[in-house]
Amino acid sequence: MGTMPGYFDHNATTPIAGVARRAWVEAEESYWHNPSGLYREAGESRRVLEDWREALADHLDVEDPERLVFTSGATEANNAIVGHFARNLGGVIVVSGIEHPSVEAPASLLEKNERLRRLPTDPLNGTVELGYLREWISKGEVGAVSLMAANNETGALQPWREAAALCREAGIPFHTDAAQWIGKLPVCGFHQAGFVTGSAHKFGGAKGVGFLVLPEEELGSPFHGLVGGPQEQGRRAGTENLPGVASMVAALLERGDATLTDWSERQARFRDDFEVRLEKEAGVKILAKGGDRLWNTSMFVLPEGKNVKWLARLSQRGYSVSTGSACSAGKENPSSVMMAMGLSFEEMGRVLRISGGGETGEEEWMGLAEAIIEVGKEIGA
Ligand code: PMP
Repeated sequence: MGTMPGYFDHNATTPIAGVARRAWVEAEESYWHNPSGLYREAGESRRVLEDWREALADHLDVEDPERLVFTSGATEANNAIVGHFARNLGGVIVVSGIEHPSVEAPASLLEKNERLRRLPTDPLNGTVELGYLREWISKGEVGAVSLMAANNETGALQPWREAAALCREAGIPFHTDAAQWIGKLPVCGFHQAGFVTGSAHKFGGAKGVGFLVLPEEELGSPFHGLVGGPQEQGRRAGTENLPGVASMVAALLERGDATLTDWSERQARFRDDFEVRLEKEAGVKILAKGGDRLWNTSMFVLPEGKNVKWLARLSQRGYSVSTGSACSAGKENPSSVMMAMGLSFEEMGRVLRISGGGETGEEEWMGLAEAIIEVGKEIGA
């Protein structure tokens, strides 16, 4: 497997990496006993699970592996953390206006009792502004903060490290949803970020598995996600997904810092050349271009016609792209990210999101640019 020609939707999910598939099969065959059992084979499952927890903690620079909780993915982890903030903390919960729905939806439940505030986004670079956060913290109003590391739609990198530092100084719990960062950019600062979430299928691991990191000071706290069983030290009920965890750790460890740095440099060049060509020859407007973005992501407003029409024609030509969560077929709600980027409803219906992979070649990027230019001519744009 590995590379998939024409596949430009890596922010939605990735094909499973060879090492991850092999690790998954090996774990499913050799360690299928329930790690909670008391017999010898179960003990073996427990031992490898703890080895993988240690390897992941080490990769993330987290000293104590007990701070890691395995989950079914970032959605579950985000729900668990925001739910914990809502149940156990006073004050307002501060989020950005561009969070993934798995943070935004549980946070929005706090809106009715006025316990939620959203930080504004700069529409030119897609980055959250921290001015209000400083002010609210200095007034002692903030109970907890959740700010994503990299936006899944525009790719815009967020000031999560600055926000984490502000919260650390003030003793306020902080969470970053790093589902789009981990596995794409080198790990840096997550050990100090408080709560962190990640998801295996965004970086070549199996689907349906992810993790959360707890801050050190929460180790003795009543934090829990799913309830109904003693697994994960009572923090997340449900039999552990051993093969999923094996695949996740194998996929992530394969992407060492050197690989990610190499991808960042090479792929960002391909992506930038692709954008220059589209701006010139297809009249697109690139979003969040003014700031730092993930190297693999390009989101833009097409000059004319519904995005789903472009998407279908690109699909016929062998290219898989996305409309992001912008208005598209079957989704009538306006995207909060697009709103934060200052787009009109009409423009939201003309948005495409392109997200390549580490192995996507220059010819593929240029092939997609040509296909978009061609479709533009067909549509009369
Ligand atoms: N957060 C972000 C930023 C994401 O991009 C995604 C996946 N689209 C999620 C959370 C949810 O991840 P999962 O599929 O593992 O539930």
